[in-house]
Formats: sequence, structure tokens, C-alpha cells
Amino acid sequence: MADETRLREEIVEAGRRLYKKGFVAANDGNVSVRLDGGRILITPSGVCKGDMDPGMMVVVDGDGKVLSGRLRPSSEMKMHLAVYRIRDDVRAIVHAHPPKATAFAVAGLPLDKLTLPEVVFSLGRVAFSEYGTPSTKQVPEAVVRVIGDAGAVLLANHGALTVGAGVMDAYFRMETLEHFAAITLYARLLGGERELSPKEESELIRIRRDVFGKTDG
Ligand SMILES: [Zn+2]
Repeated sequence: MADETRLREEIVEAGRRLYKKGFVAANDGNVSVRLDGGRILITPSGVCKGDMDPGMMVVVDGDGKVLSGRLRPSSEMKMHLAVYRIRDDVRAIVHAHPPKATAFAVAGLPLDKLTLPEVVFSLGRVAFSEYGTPSTKQVPEAVVRVIGDAGAVLLANHGALTVGAGVMDAYFRMETLEHFAAITLYARLLGGERELSPKEESELIRIRRDVFGKTDG
């Protein structure tokens, strides 16, 4: 139970940072984390994520049935549950609309060029999923089709989703994604990015494995 208390506080903190950074507006965005017994702790809908308290979170089972909580779970809950179903390694998920990454998603431009070591080390691959009407099953279906081992997914004409080993890990990946989008945008204003060569990329993957102990997205 102490663990659940800490996880509720972590979600509050991630929500505060998402709102302060301008990664969400008004009541946008959602954050979730796995609890034991296949349960998921998720943010409520209709609440500003910058202004939550630990008691607002909703506990649902793997099918989205509410087990406890006085508010309704996030309208994008199906997207979270679908990712947990296919990715055992994912412990937490953040969904937001950070403006620069979302601009790439709106322009239909994937962020799939390997240009920054930091992205290889901490974010991994960024997938791009087709547009689906928010809150319908089109969104989870589109995400599940492309996520593979990616650390982030750009959601066409919508926003972004990041996954992680914990709440703050998934949150920091959202920061890295937005930073990556900003740098890519600036580089294109300056004439375009230079991609890392396959040799440079394999060197980074080796370091990531040996130094950071990571083998997945
Ligand atoms: Zn959204």
C-alpha cells in the first residue's frame, strides 16, 4: 500500500510538470502506472493535470473496469490498457500534447532520423501512428500496430505517448521527445539535420547496452 501511495504522488508530480512545461492545456493529457494484481492506476478525466491530488486517481482492472476512485478514468484509458497488454516491460505511460512534437504529428512528419546521442540513450525509437478519433478503439489499434519496442509514439493529428519503467521515466521521455522535436525543427530551419552514420549508431547502441544496461526501446 505504501508503494501505491508513492505512485499516486509520482503521478501528481508528473502532471504538475506536464502542465508547467506547457505539454498539456486545460484538462488534456493522462498518466498511468501498473499496480500489483494486473491493476492500473490512472489519472481522472476532466481535471487539469497540473492541479491534481493523490486521492483523485482511479484504479481500474486490465479491462478498464473501475475498482476504486470517485472520478471517471481518463477518456484515453483504452490506449494505455492496449499498450500494457502487449508490452510487459512498460510500467508507466504518459500521454500529452507537447507543441513541437505534436506539430510533427500534425504535419504528418515522423521523428525517425537518428541525429542525437541523447535520443538513442534515453528515448529509443519514436514510432508514428495513424490518426484515430480520440477515446475510440481506433487510437489503441493504431498505436498497437506500430509501437513495437519504441519508447515514444507520435499520434497523428493528436499528440504523443511515451512509455517507461516508472512514472518519472515515462515523463522524462516526454521531455526528451519534445526537446528532440525542437532541435529537429531548428535544424531544418538551418538547412536540415545530418543523420548519424550506421557506424556511429552502432557505437551508441553498444554504449547504451554496456554503460546504461538497456537492450530495449
Ligand atoms: Zn490527447
